[in-house]
Amino acid sequence: MAANTASDEIERLIKEQINLPSPPAIAVKILNIVQSRECSIEELESIISADPALTSKMLRTANSAFYCLPNEVSNVGRALSILGTNVIKNIALSFVIAGDLRGDKASFFDFDYFWRRSVTAAVAAELVTGLLRQKNDDIFVTALLHDIGVLVLYLIKGNEYLGLLKRCIGKGDIDLITEERQAYQFDHQQLGGTLLASWGIPTSITEPISYHHQPEFTPEPSRQTAHVLNTAGLLAAIYTGTETSKHVKELESKMFETFEIQPEQTRELLDDVARKSIEMLQIFEIDPGEMKPYSQMLQEANEELGKLNFSYEQLVLELKEAKEKAEKYAGELREANSRLEQLAFRDGLTGLFNHRYFQETLAREITRTKRYGRPLSLVIFDIDFFKKVNDTYGHPAGDQVLINLAKAIGIAVRPSDIVARYGGEEFTVILPETDRTGLKVFAERLRHCAAAVTTIFNKSSIKVTVSCGGAQYSQEDTITQQEFIEAADKGLYLSKENGRNRVTIVDIDPKAQ
Ligand code: GH3
Ligand code: MG
Ligand code: MG
Repeated sequence: MAANTASDEIERLIKEQINLPSPPAIAVKILNIVQSRECSIEELESIISADPALTSKMLRTANSAFYCLPNEVSNVGRALSILGTNVIKNIALSFVIAGDLRGDKASFFDFDYFWRRSVTAAVAAELVTGLLRQKNDDIFVTALLHDIGVLVLYLIKGNEYLGLLKRCIGKGDIDLITEERQAYQFDHQQLGGTLLASWGIPTSITEPISYHHQPEFTPEPSRQTAHVLNTAGLLAAIYTGTETSKHVKELESKMFETFEIQPEQTRELLDDVARKSIEMLQIFEIDPGEMKPYSQMLQEANEELGKLNFSYEQLVLELKEAKEKAEKYAGELREANSRLEQLAFRDGLTGLFNHRYFQETLAREITRTKRYGRPLSLVIFDIDFFKKVNDTYGHPAGDQVLINLAKAIGIAVRPSDIVARYGGEEFTVILPETDRTGLKVFAERLRHCAAAVTTIFNKSSIKVTVSCGGAQYSQEDTITQQEFIEAADKGLYLSKENGRNRVTIVDIDPKAQ
């Protein structure tokens, strides 16, 4: 019922000749000669030879890798006698029809793509037939024209059909013919087959075309050819479509299930199709584009992947190096920072905190004492008769004494105590959390510690004593930082006054507050 509706509709179109292509004049002549009982080789030869372009294509085909003839064929007559009337007729038909239906460049339909795919399918069908050890002189032209219904549907329906084609991209072939039937009551297989039959092309060619997407429903004896067409379509899709690897898998299983061809053989066939299609496309004057054998595609993909691996390793290496560099810089930065800190807060000779740091820290500690009520003590000490050390042993010896004393005192204090060089041979110690009793004890210990230090310089052993002054600051005190320092300094002055090498704690004068 549906088939009837379809053929009725196609018959109507063909009768009305709406936008339908008619067969090229030479094709009609060739078909007439071949169909007449006494097919004359001479007649066929004269028709082909009358068209120089067709003749040259003909000879190029006969001499191509396709037929692998031992000697060069130099004229149509020779080609006819070697390849036979049927083969030559089919080659001629192929060129004539494919050359006639090229469309124009401005068209939205990609005629070049259509013929690239069709020629590839024709080459593929010929090679599959050879692989199956079957003889079918018509297979090339059959496969070349198998999708002619698609082209004709475009000629009849224009952009409307292009829209339908675009909707079906990525879907299966069955989706395409279903959509076509819904829209037009027939599909491209039926249209192609019927149109070619109306041109006088024999049923052995048109019937497989009418069923190429449903080979299992093809009436005998055309079923095998329909299977070959279906396979050829798949092979063409591999080289002209986008989902290559998906189609290769599909092809391998189809070749095995339908023809019992092993995947290794299918792979060989696949490469052969590309090599021979490139040659054939050139004869058809169609740009083969980027077409290359599948194995080469795989190899190139592998090389690309290899490059990717290489650059991945490079990347890892570079990252590792960058990380190491960053760590090195971070280390250098830490060092630079600590060097800056040294410069900013440390005394160059002794390594103790400098005067500036002493003042800043004392300010912080006074604030803390005021806020939390914790006791705070301060010691200032000065080397006794240091001028004499310099005078007797030299300035470098005096420096060494300062260094040794600083080291000894640095060790003697608690980590929270801040020892600073106040200036020259005068030092201070800030004692957080230390009351008057603690202050007195610490200052005495300091005095003893200093007295215990012996500096050996140029075989001389140098010993010094220190005089200490101390003061304690409490929460209730309102004196300034400077006055607090002056109080401790007053203790130092008193120690010097009273004979040196001693400690004097000065209580902050309540009247001074
Ligand atoms: P006093 O017991 O009264 O403190 O006597 P003094 O000699 O220690 O005191 P004075 O202030 O007269 O001399 C301090 C000397 O310390 C003078 C100066 O040359 C020396 N001096 C200051 N800074 C340094 C230094 O960095 N290195 C050396 N070698 N000597 C220094
Ligand atoms: Mg098709
Ligand atoms: Mg001194």
